[in-house]
Amino acid sequence: MNRLTGVPLSLARVIEALSSLPGIGSKSAMRLALNLLSRPAADAKALAEALAQLHEQVGFCQRCGCFSEQGACQMCADTKRNHALICVVEQPVDVLMMERGQGYRGSYHVLHGRLSPVDGVGAEQLNLNGLDQRVRAGGVSELILATSATVDGEATAHYLANRYQSHGVRISRIARGVPEGGELEYLDEHTLHRALDQRVFWDQSA
Ligand SMILES: [Zn+2]
Repeated sequence: MNRLTGVPLSLARVIEALSSLPGIGSKSAMRLALNLLSRPAADAKALAEALAQLHEQVGFCQRCGCFSEQGACQMCADTKRNHALICVVEQPVDVLMMERGQGYRGSYHVLHGRLSPVDGVGAEQLNLNGLDQRVRAGGVSELILATSATVDGEATAHYLANRYQSHGVRISRIARGVPEGGELEYLDEHTLHRALDQRVFWDQSA
């Protein structure tokens, strides 16, 4: 990195690290670094400690694949939620988006991807064994397919509908409130919850 004259090495390292983050240019990175420097040292230390623990502490729930600190995630551990309802999403971030509006009280299953023949992603690369087990164990009344409204997301929804249709589980697909080509991550929570409320049952939509 070409260091600006007068910028001490330790400050330059922080600027460089920050500017590697998405959406943060070198000017913003410098502003953030200077802001941290202007605050009490404890603030910077607290941030550093939080960052240091990020990878150590955050993993995935063994049951549903959401983010989890240890063992079952908050959603799986919550006995007040409706565990007969499973919303199937592509990524853990989609769960965070769904939870933002706090309108959905069912459980989740995270695929950690979507079918993508171009990228060589097949069903065996997705987190489907866990979903198979949950469905086979019984007690699941509905799978809500909330994969993205992209070509691959739609193909994944079709695949899942075929895979689980014969298991006596209702299959639904979130409504087209999701814009064509839309990733859930970029939707506001109202659009997302409308899409969820207006979901279409698979037998009717086919
Ligand atoms: Zn979980």
